[in-house]
Order: sequence, then structure tokens, then C-alpha cells
Amino acid sequence: MSRDADPLNHIGNTPLIELTRLDAGPCQLFVKLENQNPSGSIKDRVALSMIEAAEADGRLTPGGRIVEATAGNTGLALALLAIRRGYSLTLVIPDKMSREKIAHLRAMGVEVVLTRSDVAKGHPEYYQDLAERLAHENGAFFADQFNNPANPAAHETTTGPEIWEQMGGQVDAVVAGVGSGGTLTGLSRFFSRVSPATDIVLADPKGSILAEYTRSGQVGTAGSWLVEGIGEDFIPPVSDLSRVRHAYTITDGESFAVARQVLRDEGLLIGSSSGTLLAAALRYCREQTEPKRVVSFVCDSGNKYLSKMYNDFWMADQGLLSRPRHGDLRDIIS
Ligand code: PMP
Repeated sequence: MSRDADPLNHIGNTPLIELTRLDAGPCQLFVKLENQNPSGSIKDRVALSMIEAAEADGRLTPGGRIVEATAGNTGLALALLAIRRGYSLTLVIPDKMSREKIAHLRAMGVEVVLTRSDVAKGHPEYYQDLAERLAHENGAFFADQFNNPANPAAHETTTGPEIWEQMGGQVDAVVAGVGSGGTLTGLSRFFSRVSPATDIVLADPKGSILAEYTRSGQVGTAGSWLVEGIGEDFIPPVSDLSRVRHAYTITDGESFAVARQVLRDEGLLIGSSSGTLLAAALRYCREQTEPKRVVSFVCDSGNKYLSKMYNDFWMADQGLLSRPRHGDLRDIIS
């Protein structure tokens, strides 16, 4: 097989483009199109990094089983790795996640264990606790993105350097969300070395405890939110949020409104967490008095959310659109 025939060789080196049709105040807003990774999200980088680290130190042996707790994208990335490298895969997924992701995983031959979305860490049905137990019971490799240092390392060694090169060494701010914290932590480490003045900006869904934690150091009580893949009810052990300089709390309504606006104005079908990131990026941009070069992400594609935030009837059911047949931005209720 030639090198280029292997999809795993096409992980990373994603395009970076400027969004020119949104009102970014005095700033230029760029996005890295992580949806163009082979399995469709930013998580390909992390899956590859975690599997290669486990292969290297013998935690994962040929024909072995991988177990992971995931909102879906890590699962899709691990499923690609499992197929290409000959592993079995069990994923534990909270039941609020989109049907598209679950159908996609099952079609890839993955064993999907759905568990409750309404329980917190420490509960036996919490997705991470359940995954850890299943891995232990089956003698499988628990990828454990929330504790695995290979997760932020993927972003420190690939995503960060790619942005730096693509931006010609001029980056004033990077805006990211936190699911496991791998992206934000890896980028924080990279930029603290090459460009300590670069602002690290957190985009956090309303209901998540992380934005408040970065402001006050207090771990509050989590609510719930509809955006998928980011926001937490605990501080992921692998995350280092100490370099976050600005944090924005974004409602589901605002995240979805921005995502829908990006589709209409820029023609890009972005996922829900990307809506949160870009909502925060736009707020940051509009607060600036000087021109700045700001980088954020399209973490995954919106095609996973066609039945949700891009569906006017679903939006109306959530109380987020007042006139379901005419998805006008002004009708979005934050
Ligand atoms: N966006 C989406 C859609 C995701 O699935 C994830 C990962 N859960 C993230 C953003 C956040 O990435 P990280 O785990 O690196 O914090």
C-alpha cells in the first residue's frame, strides 16, 4: 500500500480559512477545518496519538479490544483506527447524543453501550465510570481521553504547530471549547512556548462549570445543555485551564444561531460545538479595539445535527425558534 492510500496518513494538516462574512469587529477570524479529518472531526488526532502511545508501550496488543467513553467523535475516530489496525471497540455513550452518530458507529461494527445522560461522575451509570468498569472486566485497553496525556500531546505537537505555520507566526488569540480539554491544553502549552502573548479563550456552554471555574476557581453545580462535545460537569484531569485569559458562557440558542448563520452566510455546515466556539470568538472579536488575528475551529461537520439544530421543528420544540418554518436569525431566542 502506498503511503497516501492509508486514511490514517491524512489525519491533521487540515485547511485553515478566514471567515469574511461575519461581523468580527476589528478582527480577522480564521477557522481550522477539523471536520476534514478522515473520520470527520478534530478527534482523529487524539485517537491516533492515544492508540500509537498504547501500542508503543504494550498496553494495546494485536487484536486487542479498546474501550472508551465518548460523546461520539472520539468514538468515530477510534472506530476508524480499530478498523485500520485490527482492534475491537466498545464505546460507552450518553443517551443525549445524536442518533446519526450512534447509527454511524454501529454501522462501523462498534459495540455501542448507551447510558444515562442525567447522572454525574461517581454514579455507576455515568459514562466514564461505566467505561472504566467495562474495560477492567474485559481486560481491554481503556483509552481514557480524560486522563490520557497522549490527548493534549496530539494538539501540542500537531494542531498548534500547524496553526502557527498557517498563520505565518501571527496569532493574537485562539478560541477553543473543553470536552476532555485536550485541544485547549495542548494549544496552551504550544503557544506558551512560541507566543506567550497569544490569548487563550474558552468557549463554554451555559450549564457547564468550566467558564466559572476559570474565573473564580470555584467548581459549581452543572446544569444541562444541548450542544454536543464540549462543556463539563467536572474538571477533566488531563486539562490545564490555567492559561485561559477570557471565558465566555454561551447559551444553546446563541450557539445554534451562530452555526445557522455560518451556514447561511459562509456556506459552511458546522457542528454545534463549533457554533459555541464561533459565538465566543465573535464576542471576543467585537470587544477588541485593535485589529487582531483570531483562530478557532470547525470541530466537526453539521451533517450530524441535521435532525437537531438545523431542523426548525426541533428548534421550535426546544423553544429556540418562534417561527419554525422560516429559520430567520432574528427568531432565535437565546
Ligand atoms: N467539539 C466536538 C464536536 C467534540 O466532540 C469534542 C470532543 N469531545 C470537542 C469539541 C472538544 O475537544 P476536547 O476533548 O479536545 O476538549
